Amino acid sequence: MSEFNLIAKYFTRPAQHADLGVGDDAALIRVTQGQQLAISADMLVAGTHFFHDAPPYSIGWKSLAVNASDMAAMGAQPKWATLAIALPEVNEPWLAEFSKGFFACAQSFNVDLIGGDTTRGPLTLSVQIMGEVPLGQAIQRNGAKAGDDIWVSGMLGSAALGLAYLQDKVLLTEPTTSHCLNALTTPTPRVALGLALRGIANSCIDISDGLTADLNHILKASNLGAELVLENIHCHDYLRTHLNDANIQQCILAGGDDYELLFTAPKSQRTYIQQLSQQLQLSLSLIGETTSELGLTVTHHQQAVDITKKGFDHFG
Ligand code: ADP
Ligand code: MG
Repeated sequence: MSEFNLIAKYFTRPAQHADLGVGDDAALIRVTQGQQLAISADMLVAGTHFFHDAPPYSIGWKSLAVNASDMAAMGAQPKWATLAIALPEVNEPWLAEFSKGFFACAQSFNVDLIGGDTTRGPLTLSVQIMGEVPLGQAIQRNGAKAGDDIWVSGMLGSAALGLAYLQDKVLLTEPTTSHCLNALTTPTPRVALGLALRGIANSCIDISDGLTADLNHILKASNLGAELVLENIHCHDYLRTHLNDANIQQCILAGGDDYELLFTAPKSQRTYIQQLSQQLQLSLSLIGETTSELGLTVTHHQQAVDITKKGFDHFG
């Protein structure tokens, strides 16, 4: 199969909001007046970010989902993506499933695949995403204020438990196994939440490397410290069934790959945020407060918790 047939068969779909999509030397898009273009790229490398034998559908989904999550964290509406893919061989059943997963995610979040590059090499997916946000309304990491509430969406730790299972570090039973593996391989980017937080949140980040590691990015950028209350961070009950306290803490505080949103907001926004949780049917937990004093402390029923175990750091 030629490169061009492969692109036509697996990576060409009608574009909803591009003047020109896949097929020419470049795609053509129009940025809406009054909007800023938000641009981000995330690469997934086989053996580093996923196992070589991972289901191709989930690799396709996740390669776009992690990028849409970056748009969500900025309060941007994802619209366009490009996909650069290195393939060791042309494996049509693999490509068909990968493409299905990629476009399932694209359809869920109304993103057009408008171009890319296809080459032979060790399995690598590099997606660039572009979205729009009204001028000046992007939610940045450096906007947190002392005394902000700290919030997190969803339940934490399931993806980390799924990874521990794949690494033979823990035994799980159904339906927990499927639930954790789904959390790890097909995360849901919180796009609607990100959009609703425009003008509400002072700062926001998506959790890819672990709660404390990612919170530290906000604190550093905003020159603040924080106090977190561990018992207010939601996780599924099955974490308690399968893990001891230390491991639960490790999964919740340092486990990566949850792709939930961590944000800070003035206390005056509490009612709005609680209503938003109802509206989106997504749990939003108030887990702490930012402080003008630097440093991050975590307590569990008023007892200090050791947080020296850090999130996954590729160069650590
Ligand atoms: P060129 O040689 O001009 O760079 P290519 O042969 O690399 O063009 O690609 C042909 C067309 O297919 C271009 O529009 C490019 O953006 C698109 N394309 C290539 N690979 C992919 C891919 N994996 N996903 C989506 N579009 C792709
Ligand atoms: Mg090219």
